[in-house]
Amino acid sequence: MAPSKDENTVQDSHHNDGAEGKDAWKKKAPYLIHDKNSDFNAIYEGGCHCGKVKFQLSREKPLAAKYCHCTTQIYLPLSPNLGAPFQWATIFHKEDINFVRGHHDLGWYDSGEKSTRHKLPCKVSCAYCRSPIMDEGRNMILLFPTLLHFKSEEEKKRFAPTCHMFYNQRVVDIKDGLPKWTGMDGKSDLIEDSPPDVVRKRKREIEEEKEKEKNGDKDEDENEDNKARKK
Ligand SMILES: [Zn+2]
Ligand SMILES: [Zn+2]
Repeated sequence: MAPSKDENTVQDSHHNDGAEGKDAWKKKAPYLIHDKNSDFNAIYEGGCHCGKVKFQLSREKPLAAKYCHCTTQIYLPLSPNLGAPFQWATIFHKEDINFVRGHHDLGWYDSGEKSTRHKLPCKVSCAYCRSPIMDEGRNMILLFPTLLHFKSEEEKKRFAPTCHMFYNQRVVDIKDGLPKWTGMDGKSDLIEDSPPDVVRKRKREIEEEKEKEKNGDKDEDENEDNKARKK
């Protein structure tokens, strides 16, 4: 499935695009403070290395789960193990997270402007132990599931990555048979041991895109016919 527009926005944020931010951060998701009687349904709990920042998640399965090999994490390591060669990231709506501790221990970093004020998109970490927590986009967050305390293998499986992004920038090879994109998934090329059926599907998409470009919009109907014939 191609990533949604919002999904792309948060992933772009992780890949350094600038954008406008707001001030009243504590009254808005993802930092909105829920009181004990709120109907936030906590399914998972997680936190930073030192324990100052604690959060809960209310969504059973992330909107997407991927490995990212982009070089951002070589400079801004996104795992508590410094210099992680690639990163396991999951996408959630901002409303899916509830910080139960550590609002004042959060640190922000806008890698576009190289500033530490809260301006979207930005990187969010614990200001004390420096554990990266998430990348915050405009509507979505890219959360690092290594911070979650899974209660079973079953739970962990729901967060299993479905592909690799920016695999061209990798520093290690991962032969796991998952689709491997040179850039953003659904928008780049598939390489290495990507599954043949996914590669064929992508090839077809690229051909269709090219065809569309060639014919322009006026031949839309004919394109639909071609598509039908190919099937
Ligand atoms: Zn911490
Ligand atoms: Zn990345």
